[in-house]
Amino acid sequence: MLEVQEQVPLAPRTTIHAGGTAHYFIHIPNETQLPEVCAFAREKKVPLHPLGDGSNTLFADGSLELCIVKLANPFIRVWSVEQNLVYVESGAGTEWDAFVLWTIQRGYAGVECLSGIPGTVGAAPIQNIGAYGQELKQTLVQVRAYDTKLETYVSLPVKQCELDYRTSIFKDPAYKNRYILTSIVCRLSLRAPTPLTYTDIQNYFQTQNIQQPSLANIRDAVLTIRTQKLPDYHSIPNAGSFFKNPIIPKERADALQKQYPNIKLFPIDNTQTKLAAGWLIDQCGLKGSYIGPVGIYEKNALVLTNANMASCADIIQARDSILKQVQEKFGITLEMEPEIVG
Ligand SMILES: Cc1cc2nc3c(=O)[nH]c(=O)nc-3n(C[C@H](O)[C@H](O)[C@H](O)COP(=O)(O)OP(=O)(O)OC[C@H]3O[C@@H](n4cnc5c(N)ncnc54)[C@H](O)[C@@H]3O)c2cc1C
Repeated sequence: MLEVQEQVPLAPRTTIHAGGTAHYFIHIPNETQLPEVCAFAREKKVPLHPLGDGSNTLFADGSLELCIVKLANPFIRVWSVEQNLVYVESGAGTEWDAFVLWTIQRGYAGVECLSGIPGTVGAAPIQNIGAYGQELKQTLVQVRAYDTKLETYVSLPVKQCELDYRTSIFKDPAYKNRYILTSIVCRLSLRAPTPLTYTDIQNYFQTQNIQQPSLANIRDAVLTIRTQKLPDYHSIPNAGSFFKNPIIPKERADALQKQYPNIKLFPIDNTQTKLAAGWLIDQCGLKGSYIGPVGIYEKNALVLTNANMASCADIIQARDSILKQVQEKFGITLEMEPEIVG
């Protein structure tokens, strides 16, 4: 028997604390109830929307005709071991950072730079979470999901998930909310962690005089740097990076660099370059300012803060103003990272 809540406020279920109410909200402790949840949503003729911890979600204001499903199936287990590789499965409802900590405590390398990312394991493949030179794509092997179209459980190999920079097939409108992820499998390494190239992390180890950082050292470094750059969403509501770093043709980036010698660039290959969106926003003089009730974090212009109970409309207005200013100054269109739902 499903426990269905009605007219549930959604703001407290997100880290940016904005948005209206969901008509239906269903919390399930394990995946076996997913067919029943889908049948319920079909009967009520409302779209089904899987929700994790709401750290990458901005719900629209007002009363939303949605059936939200939250799968709380936390588990982590070793799937198999092959020479220096260990395959670990984790339930979609596991806290992502609990998963990372579990792997580090056992000496399994591969997700240590993803320490401290809020949210659930089930949401991690959706935007191919990444930080400090690591992406989920590098270790993910497969996801298990309930296919709401075919009404059956499926295993999708990572190739089929089409993970790329902050995206995957699950964001493609043709597949949106078709798959409700129930678990993921990652391939981790029993070898020592690979040397890290990310400048902030290298600087941290230099100041700490650490020559060969362990997984635990890397986690400490990442958590320390994250605390310096990101506001704690428990006290200052936010959704992390609000914009993706734009990827532009290399020639265009080179031209921008001539004009702005201090521009922050991350070469991808011979043809493409990633720009630091936060730098672009900062150059528009926006860091530390407010657009209506919405703040642009004083330590990191990529983060929009909501300490003043802004609505979704306020946040979208702030977003549009930032997009316009960056477009006018640099001719670059930023793309929002969190998903607007409803
Ligand atoms: C302070 C802060 C820092 C952050 N730092 C980073 C960072 O360094 N790198 C990074 O990549 N991201 C970062 N994020 C973004 C966010 O933490 C990640 O995107 C995270 O994976 C979202 O998890 P969630 O459970 O909160 O997802 P939600 O916001 O609940 O959902 C996000 C998307 O996943 C879908 N989804 C959720 N669960 C399932 C499921 N079981 N099956 C299918 N679809 C599902 C939702 O429908 C939605 O489309 C940060 C966010 C915050 C607030």
